[in-house]
Amino acid sequence: AEGFNANVAAAKALNAFIVETPDHALAAADAADKARGEGALLPLSGVPIGMKDLFCTAGVQTTAASHMLEGFKPTYESTVSGKLWAAGAGMLGKLNLDQFAMGSSNETSYFGNVISPWKRGGGDNAALAPGGSSGGSASAISARLCPAATGTDTGGSIRQPAAFVGISGIKPTYGRCSRWGVVAFASSLDQAGPMARTIRDNAILLESMAGFDPKDSTSLDLPVPQWEAGLSSDLRGKKVGIPKEYRVDGMPAEIEALWEKGIALLKDAGAEVVEVSLPHTKYALPTYYIIAPAEASSNLARYDGVRYGLRDLPDGANLQDMYAATRAAGFGPEVKRRIMIGTYVLSAGFYDAYYTQAQKVRTLIARDFAKAFESCDLLLTPTAPSAAFALGEKQADPLAMYLNDVFTVPASLAGLPAMSVPGGLDAQGLPLGLQIIGKALDEQGVLNAGLAIE
Ligand code: GLN
Repeated sequence: AEGFNANVAAAKALNAFIVETPDHALAAADAADKARGEGALLPLSGVPIGMKDLFCTAGVQTTAASHMLEGFKPTYESTVSGKLWAAGAGMLGKLNLDQFAMGSSNETSYFGNVISPWKRGGGDNAALAPGGSSGGSASAISARLCPAATGTDTGGSIRQPAAFVGISGIKPTYGRCSRWGVVAFASSLDQAGPMARTIRDNAILLESMAGFDPKDSTSLDLPVPQWEAGLSSDLRGKKVGIPKEYRVDGMPAEIEALWEKGIALLKDAGAEVVEVSLPHTKYALPTYYIIAPAEASSNLARYDGVRYGLRDLPDGANLQDMYAATRAAGFGPEVKRRIMIGTYVLSAGFYDAYYTQAQKVRTLIARDFAKAFESCDLLLTPTAPSAAFALGEKQADPLAMYLNDVFTVPASLAGLPAMSVPGGLDAQGLPLGLQIIGKALDEQGVLNAGLAIE
């Protein structure tokens, strides 16, 4: 019992969960027992998963890790979580994240940072970031607190945390999973997806999460492929492109080595590897950090103290005072920074110089991918420019933090399916991830290349 208590304490210290919902998971387990007796097991019968606290869950607090939504209990269920429950899964709890999914380290959460269960070798005891924004999902899966979890990815929030803790996660094609009931960050980029230890688990979960939803106007009205049944690590006949612009200056030697290892594994699986060019890659990060804050500033206008969560109504305050007080108290510093940037780039006089320009460059980036896919089927890159960094290391420097997204944002801007798969350990024993990017709707190709690397 002592050992068990120590493990529970160690698990809680990771701070991966904001709310625990054991009854939800137990009810799914009971339903699974019954279904087994009746010979009517569902794809996820009884599987206890973690839910990123960005998905609205009926009657269960949904915060987006912000003080603004503390205590908010939605009266409705997000489409994606509803689909998972309909497939038999149960919820262990709501997982911590960067506030409103803005961040790459999980340090912007109002409920405290999440800690990675990994440590550097050689007695270095520094607490490491689990990545972000789906840091709670990553940490919980890596520490074996749950076998799988949901994530969302706007500019890398499934892939980068998966890479930091040595698990897999896939961001499907934009529109595959409904955004209905997912707290909005940047609507033209937000996509839900699974995170799990294996490619197969990701395929199984994604099949239950994806599908057309009339409640989301950007949802794709297409049948959901049988990705699990289609899994194969035989890549004969496939061409994998290596985008030369991803060889950024100052890339650590171990990231280069990881990439070479990935190339070798894909060749072993029968793929042909070719060099391709994505000439506008260097503009992806600035483009993303204009478009995402612009959309966020608009989406977050709804938190006004009237409709959701927090209300700060100082004595004698009028309506304007209430808006100001509520938003001042409710949003954390990174969220405020994004709202300020977004409001600026959308303001009269600057709109054309920043927002319109960014939209044009976004189109060029999407065209780069289309052109590259004329000569290959998939792309292979590192997921992040480094292994997990220490908590606090980049917190004071937003630009250093944003740079961590350099390899993940291009596929987000183009709406393409992309996943991170573990590629090995660095010299300090920390996991590194490889990213596979596919053509629109080719999640199968992405998963299969992941299987060849896994
Ligand atoms: N790290 C990126 C950002 O801070 C991506 C976040 C995400 O994908 N939700 O915007």
